[in-house]
Amino acid sequence: MDDALAVPAFRDNYIWLVPGPEPRDVAIVDPGLAEPVIDAVERRGLHPALILCTHHHGDHTGGIEALAARYRIPVYAPAAEAIPGTTVGVRDGQVFDTSVATFRVLEVPGHTRGHVAYLSDERLFCGDTLFSAGCGRLFEGTAFQMHASLMRLAALPPQTRVYCAHEYTISNLRFARHVEPDNDDILHYAQRARRLRDAGQPTLPSTIADERRINPFLRTHHASLRAHVARLGGPKSDTDAAFFATLRRWKDDFQG
Ligand code: ZN
Ligand code: FE
Repeated sequence: MDDALAVPAFRDNYIWLVPGPEPRDVAIVDPGLAEPVIDAVERRGLHPALILCTHHHGDHTGGIEALAARYRIPVYAPAAEAIPGTTVGVRDGQVFDTSVATFRVLEVPGHTRGHVAYLSDERLFCGDTLFSAGCGRLFEGTAFQMHASLMRLAALPPQTRVYCAHEYTISNLRFARHVEPDNDDILHYAQRARRLRDAGQPTLPSTIADERRINPFLRTHHASLRAHVARLGGPKSDTDAAFFATLRRWKDDFQG
């Protein structure tokens, strides 16, 4: 299966174009803008077949209506969020067939209350829930919800490729190294991320296996991470979810 193509938008968003067996058909994931997508699609002679939307924020939805009108294609978006242009409201566990792939819907609340991710073969489109070496901010959901959502994603097969909606990897890694300085996987992953960015490449996709090694928000059960955070003066939280809440608050205030 071919890799999805990253269309950069705004400062650090990626709009993913997902190819299928029919090589010209693509799914468009989280088009915050229409123009860069039209550009990328027309330069390559691709045929947009559907739009997938993970949550209601403008940097993921701003281009939906223009693209849907131009290409006359369906728009899949969370049923629990009011997203203009939605033609198919999706819910947890729903599976739908398209000319690009079969997609399965996972509800992953936390960043927003109705946030969903789409899973196809071994590709995960997770919007602003899981970032490489980080996770989305808690705008609507609780830390408990976000932690459960991340644990659900962490339990996917390790080879699953993770297509996040933002290029936040390098700044996330500064926080990851701060809370887990003895983790050599983070060091090596940071070197790789730096090389890719210097070459003008996205650091994504990563994999679930990578994230389990380097992402502190998926490592809340690790004794070494907890011990180091305690040494930094963080409260000793008893449950994983409470520790996650602490870590997420720290990250909000972290000046790397
Ligand atoms: Zn968002
Ligand atoms: Fe976003």
